[in-house]
Amino acid sequence: MKDPAHDGTTRPDGTPYPVAIDEKEWKEKLSRQEYDVLRRAGTERPHTGEYVDTKTKGVYSCRACGHELFSSESKFDSHCGWPSFFTPLAGDSVVLLEDRSMMSVRTEARCANCGSHLGHVFEGEGYNTPTDQRWCINSISVRLEPAED
Ligand SMILES: [Zn+2]
Repeated sequence: MKDPAHDGTTRPDGTPYPVAIDEKEWKEKLSRQEYDVLRRAGTERPHTGEYVDTKTKGVYSCRACGHELFSSESKFDSHCGWPSFFTPLAGDSVVLLEDRSMMSVRTEARCANCGSHLGHVFEGEGYNTPTDQRWCINSISVRLEPAED
């Protein structure tokens, strides 16, 4: 049976995501790699994403729908191989789900606007950040819009 919370169309609270595009359309709209991560909750290989070490100031938006998700100001060097943030831009820009897929319980982060997979959130790892959270985000799930000077 399909788990409604994990099918990318329904939020954990049962409400639909505002951007509802069927999977066939997503397939056409996204590249194959983007589709695998954003719509099939895949993970890009560590240290391969284009934003792992990016320091450019700006806003990271959802690559699927353009919803603003993270600020470069909350990006930090986690050395884990994926872009890492200590907080999303706003609490309601992202939806959290329980992910039991890897024999452990992880917290999955999805775009609150279209339900696309972004990455996972880890807490209490001892990083020297204001929240002690690591939002471990696939580069391919987001797009950086550089700030204008
Ligand atoms: Zn989105």
